[in-house]
Amino acid sequence: MIWDKIILELKRDLSPEEFSKVKNINYDEANSNPNKQILKFNNIFMLNWIKRNYLEKIAFYFEKETNLKPKIELILNKTEKKESNKNYQITQKIKNAILNPSYSFENFVVGESNKFAYQIALKIAQNPGTLYNPFFLSGGTGLGKTHLLNAIGNLNLNKKNVILVTSEEFLNDFINHLMQKNMQSFKEKYRNCDFLLIDDIQLIGGKEKFQEEFFHTFNILKENNRQIVLTSDKPVKELVGFEERLKSRFENGIVAQIKEPELETKIAIIKKKCQIDLIQMSDEIIEYIALNINNNIRTIEGILTTINSFSMIMNQEITLNLVENTIKNYKNDTKKITLDDIIKAVANNLNIKPSDIKTKKTRDILFARKIVIFLSKNLAQNSTLELAKYLNLKNHSSISKSIKKIQEEMQNNKELKNKIEEIKNKFTTNSQFN
Ligand code: ADP
Ligand code: MG
Repeated sequence: MIWDKIILELKRDLSPEEFSKVKNINYDEANSNPNKQILKFNNIFMLNWIKRNYLEKIAFYFEKETNLKPKIELILNKTEKKESNKNYQITQKIKNAILNPSYSFENFVVGESNKFAYQIALKIAQNPGTLYNPFFLSGGTGLGKTHLLNAIGNLNLNKKNVILVTSEEFLNDFINHLMQKNMQSFKEKYRNCDFLLIDDIQLIGGKEKFQEEFFHTFNILKENNRQIVLTSDKPVKELVGFEERLKSRFENGIVAQIKEPELETKIAIIKKKCQIDLIQMSDEIIEYIALNINNNIRTIEGILTTINSFSMIMNQEITLNLVENTIKNYKNDTKKITLDDIIKAVANNLNIKPSDIKTKKTRDILFARKIVIFLSKNLAQNSTLELAKYLNLKNHSSISKSIKKIQEEMQNNKELKNKIEEIKNKFTTNSQFN
């Protein structure tokens, strides 16, 4: 049941004393659904206390488990309701920002790779609006962008009007308001906040109408010294499908990039996670993990959780042997993507024969070859030479040229861009550990 999962999360998150109060909440499974989650209480004091102190956390974990933002209703059990003769049904208008409370500045390990980004984020959190506006934070997956964005929000949550959304949530909100012919309230909401924190801005590439609206929101916020922070998995220059005027605005404040963590930072992060989650591991083991797992911190967290659960369930100490085996199993599960895999996937998706991709040059085949070139450069380990040979190209420099052209073409050719994304997704959902 979903509530069991949420209770587990809360147990991890809260001190034992706090948890002892939260664990007795009754979840109304029969009447809850993914859009409306109902919690029941025997007395109004408890209800109000939970509402004040833990509702945001609970809402956050519901969202994490279901990927939806449910309305959370806190309801008083009937007997008490009768006594007090009042309807205490309280619905929480989900606040603009559901922040992850554990993504704080204190929990963020600072090293060479992220020092600059961290310092800017902290300065902005303490002194918003004028110093660096906007702040554009880029960096690869799992390197701490969302964490820093939340940290800025968390530091201001109680004193300022903070909005933290992914660009997709922002876009969906826009569409909903459009459909309800209620743009006024959309504008009021986004143009009056103190912090507009937008995660993964790259995802609104190509959404022209929305970008137009965002452009105006952006200008008004900036004029009024309201802080804007944007994160992206690529630097401004590499954003695809964005109006130039928007891109130049993005670069107008300050930009920072989180790099891949160096070994010492990785070790420090692992130590911090062990400390937070009460995991006992020797320095030797920590170093082994840092050396053998890629630089995505999310992957490292996944491995730590697995190792920890295993050792707890088996009642076994965490040994180097256990860690080696766990990591080995992961790597076996996620075999490397080869050129062959990509050709098969593309041919399959476009309904053509894999061997056609080698030479035949109809429009469809040319389209397929572009996707193969782009994906093998992005996903597979094979060399450019090998790829050129397969595609019967003169030399490997023609591949580099093609890549450049394809990247340009993707900006205008939505069909190409979407196909590439679609096929890429098939590969990346299963290959998070290498
Ligand atoms: P991104 O948004 O860049 O893809 P996240 O911010 O979601 O990455 O980070 C992935 C996970 O790694 C999160 O759980 C985050 O707390 C953790 N993490 C990343 N960088 C650090 C760091 N420097 N210190 C502590 N935890 C980190
Ligand atoms: Mg993120």
